[in-house]
Amino acid sequence: MEELLRHTADLASAHLASLDRRLVGATGEVRAQAELPDGPTDPRNVIDELVKAADPGLVASPGPRYFGFVTGGAVPASLAADWLVSAWDQNAFSHVSSPAAAAFEQVAASWVLDLLRLPAHSGVAFVTGCQMAHVTALAAARHRVLDNVGWSVADQGLFGAPPVTVIVGEHRHSTVDRALRLLGFGNNSVRLVASDRIGQMTVGGLREALESTPGPTIVSVQAGDVNTGGFDPIADIAKLVEKTDAWLHVDGAFGLWVRASTRFAGLAEGVERADSWAFDAHKWLNVPYDSGVVVVADTEAHTAAMTYPGPYLVPTEDRRDPMDWTPDASRRARGIPVYAAIRSLGRSGIADLVERCCDLGRRFGSGLADIPGAELVVEPVINQVLFRFEDDHRTATVLHQVQEGGVAWMGPTRWEGRAAIRMSVSNWMTSESDIDATLAAFREAASTP
Ligand SMILES: *Cc1c(COP(=O)(O)O)cnc(C)c1O
Repeated sequence: MEELLRHTADLASAHLASLDRRLVGATGEVRAQAELPDGPTDPRNVIDELVKAADPGLVASPGPRYFGFVTGGAVPASLAADWLVSAWDQNAFSHVSSPAAAAFEQVAASWVLDLLRLPAHSGVAFVTGCQMAHVTALAAARHRVLDNVGWSVADQGLFGAPPVTVIVGEHRHSTVDRALRLLGFGNNSVRLVASDRIGQMTVGGLREALESTPGPTIVSVQAGDVNTGGFDPIADIAKLVEKTDAWLHVDGAFGLWVRASTRFAGLAEGVERADSWAFDAHKWLNVPYDSGVVVVADTEAHTAAMTYPGPYLVPTEDRRDPMDWTPDASRRARGIPVYAAIRSLGRSGIADLVERCCDLGRRFGSGLADIPGAELVVEPVINQVLFRFEDDHRTATVLHQVQEGGVAWMGPTRWEGRAAIRMSVSNWMTSESDIDATLAAFREAASTP
């Protein structure tokens, strides 16, 4: 075992060391072993064969010039802690099954609330990603808004329940729709509010939607649009929602982390007045996959929706059983790499990471001015840069050439009915020279007729 793990650590380190020089995108076909083996294989052979076969299909996404989707890297302490989580192999579902996991997750939970300035008494759970954070938070919301009108989801289910309206911005992330579907809300219960040019919900549109929605209501807003980085005007939205019985949920997958920076926190002013927040640690905090966080201010609704009715444990004041807050039972100690990331970066390190990524995004945005045919679709708000070339065809061919070149990788999107390119600067390793190399790759592609 010891020799195998050392060997594997060497292979992993060699891979990480290669990130800066290898082509950023995948380079070839992956020939994965297809035949089920009849008998045992030496573990070292298993690992060597895996590394060799996987290599052409590995994407340098933890590296400094991967700008696709919204993809964080992994800060060293967090990656190392994640290895320990696997080696310790704790079942972090309860305090009894792993007092260490429960204790460090509790610390990580209180640090997250403090950093993001969310209500200190809130429930916190470490889940796989923002997707399951939405499911958890919106399950709590479903409990509360129906409980307000005398309907118990836990006992009565949803069949025959008073209809619930869910108000969302037209640019909400698709994971919100899927969470709603999993929770039994059909598309017909969703009401869309129009957005402005940068994808931010209009307050007038929300007011109208609230006024014409009589029954139990959930409002879901976003802090950080995946394309533009725009923020719904949450302070004004919170004022409106507070006058009603509606539940206010925030999708802050990456954008919520601006709360850690004094320079950018103003964008998410008022977000603390919401009822629940879903966000990722594997994006901007640079914790390895997979790592999402859900925070729910109403702990009664949170546990009513999630608590595990098993006969194992008697809950006590000072003992936190993660399974009472997450949709999982058995689970890895996902909060520990979050703990390690925050422990190593500290408040100032997280603020620096956020601000550096935003500054680098702007550097790229300004650099586009020197590239023939390139134009910003909107001015960068935070770390997302949305741009395009003369027409959809040109946008696609220039992007394709950059992707194939392997200096950098980012993906396509659509905005206002046109093709665009979306860049997300979310990695702790990215530097000005990476931005400049990426600009050079676009300049070259754009000068190819
Ligand atoms: C990435 C993202 C999500 C989904 O997060 P996962 O970690 O993929 O589950 C939700 N909302 C926004 C705005 C995102 O950027």
